[in-house]
Amino acid sequence: MSVLQTPIDYLKGVGPNRADLLKKELGIFTYQDLINFFPNRYLDKTRYYKINQLQRNAAEVQIIGKIVHLKMVEQKRGKRLVATFQDETGTMELVWFRGQKWIKDSIKLNVPYVIFGKCNWFNGFSMPHPELELLSEHKASIRSAMQAIYPSTEKLNNKGISNKTKIKLLQTLFLETSGKFQETLSEDILSSLQLITKSEALFNIHFPKNAELLAKAKFRLKFEELFYIQLQLIIKNISRKHKIKGFPFDQVGELFNEFYNNHLPFDLTNAQKRVIKEIRNDLGSNAQMNRLLQGDVGSGKTIVALMSVLLAIDNDFQACLMAPTEILATQHFNGISELVKKLNINVKLLTGSTKTAERKIIHQELKEGSLQLLIGTHAVLEDKVQFNNLGLAIIDEQHRFGVAQRSKLWKKNTFPPHILVMTATPIPRTLAMSLYGDLDISVIDELPPGRKAIKTVHRYDSNRLKVFAFMRDEIKKGRQIYIVYPLIQESEQLDYKDLMDGFESISRDFPKPDYQISIVHGKMKPADKEYEMQRFVKGETQIMVATTVIEVGVNVPNASVMIIESAERFGLSQLHQLRGRVGRGAEQSYCILMTSHKLSSDAKTRLETMVRTNDGFELAEVDLKLRGPGDIMGTQQSGILNLKIADLVKDNDILKLARNYAFKVLKEDPSLALDKNKIINYTYQQIGKHKNIWNYIS
Ligand code: ADP
Ligand code: MG
Repeated sequence: MSVLQTPIDYLKGVGPNRADLLKKELGIFTYQDLINFFPNRYLDKTRYYKINQLQRNAAEVQIIGKIVHLKMVEQKRGKRLVATFQDETGTMELVWFRGQKWIKDSIKLNVPYVIFGKCNWFNGFSMPHPELELLSEHKASIRSAMQAIYPSTEKLNNKGISNKTKIKLLQTLFLETSGKFQETLSEDILSSLQLITKSEALFNIHFPKNAELLAKAKFRLKFEELFYIQLQLIIKNISRKHKIKGFPFDQVGELFNEFYNNHLPFDLTNAQKRVIKEIRNDLGSNAQMNRLLQGDVGSGKTIVALMSVLLAIDNDFQACLMAPTEILATQHFNGISELVKKLNINVKLLTGSTKTAERKIIHQELKEGSLQLLIGTHAVLEDKVQFNNLGLAIIDEQHRFGVAQRSKLWKKNTFPPHILVMTATPIPRTLAMSLYGDLDISVIDELPPGRKAIKTVHRYDSNRLKVFAFMRDEIKKGRQIYIVYPLIQESEQLDYKDLMDGFESISRDFPKPDYQISIVHGKMKPADKEYEMQRFVKGETQIMVATTVIEVGVNVPNASVMIIESAERFGLSQLHQLRGRVGRGAEQSYCILMTSHKLSSDAKTRLETMVRTNDGFELAEVDLKLRGPGDIMGTQQSGILNLKIADLVKDNDILKLARNYAFKVLKEDPSLALDKNKIINYTYQQIGKHKNIWNYIS
């Protein structure tokens, strides 16, 4: 066993108590964990603050000065030790709540000290539990201009595991191991990118000799982290293509050609054509397709889905199309039934509210194989739903479905069916590469012709009357309008009230019989929802008041105005989704973001971004910057996003580089069998065993 596997308890300076804290608070169990415990920033040790330069809420600072006075102060529970600390520019307090006696005895008055810590401000600055060092000793101990500052927790601080302690522990560790660590990248990569060695990198990340070496250390460690993630993803993808046999759809048959030649309601955009070709290639090969189709709202993904379905049916396979909500599934069913009505294929809809009798027929026909396309919600995933020969499964609006659900589909046939995942929430390329490195990606980056860009404006609630006037004008022109209220799970009751209040006030300003208003929200029965939706779809009502149930996919080309209430409460991708409900017809469309005057700076950025651009990918980039990748993708993929040192947003360039290198290595040596890739192979195997990229160096 390598020395790095040694439990942290055995490191000099770590007793049972400290070991416990390190494990619980920081997840440090072994020497190795400690060495991979990276600083989150560095302090310029040559920089000393003067007391009159201190700022509220600043990070840690170091100050040179003298302690001129010490006193014990009684407080509710116990005592605190307060020192008056002075430099030539001012005075501040140092405070201790624990270990007062020992500290009091060890402090020398009126000699220069360097203090280090975070300041509080309350009628003047004070520093609780500062790290203290005599100036004379401090000078002698500086080996580098930069000092690592490690992540900490309140508990660690309180229990006396200070930054200084952590540095000491790491120093001890480097001494015990003599700072020699096994290399984890190949000679080839090291020399081609002029990377420093693993040992140098680890030393300099903790004890930077200078800024240049620190930068090199960071670069090397980030590269390494991203390189092995990419390597894993690419290998997974390749092995899927080799191992997981798919059903070859080798003929482009009658239905596809008939539809393409005679029933297409419009000319396909070039992007649609390209994507259909990509899918056809996948389906025609012997490997299972696992493809992500990204396309902004309104880019025309449905027709691509339908044509893929026709390919499946032409090859005597069944297909299914899943959507996250009943409304959307129904909409797909209606739209697709209309498109294929001359083709004589059997399409049915299965949702939570499908009647038992109908359900039975569906189950029966699916088993026999006479039902060719099943459209539905999660209901499709139920065990009772068994296909005769499922060849293609399409999932619309992927972000609502978990990975686990996706994998349920795989089990619906002897081989996994081909999978096409469609999403209208564009994922920035960087993120897509990391998250879906194991999926192939197609992008529809072109909207159907003739669309006018949606005009987006931001209005305050105080301008509501003007907005109402605008609504009347639009309705006079024959247009329809959505008004959407936020609905956040936890406060559903409250949101519901907002919605009902809003509905009432709109009903007052837009009275019958001149105006007809629909309302749809989550508490309604599916049948009632559907009824109201249909009234709006048919143009019987001019205004649709709704919660976010309409967020996904609804298609009413005559609706040209989207009003979003309390827009500051929505996330960017949600706002963009909602906006995508309009702008589907030939008319100029509008999106009005209503907010109060109280806006956080993030909310302002979101609103400004919405007003500035219609480009889903640009929005996704901003969203990523505002929220970080973890939030965007939810917790399910957090394993991949749990990066220790690299940052998917800031280290975009390193990510690309790492991906290129991973490709290059695998292209030349797919099984990593060459001698020169021995280290890579070994490291890769270790990662497989330990799951975490940072648990392998030995
Ligand atoms: P989304 O990608 O958001 O699912 P849809 O497939 O619902 O988009 O398409 C949005 C609208 O655009 C639909 O009304 C559809 O009929 C229309 N559409 C799709 N492709 C084209 C095209 N190539 N030319 C014209 N209209 C199209
Ligand atoms: Mg859609």
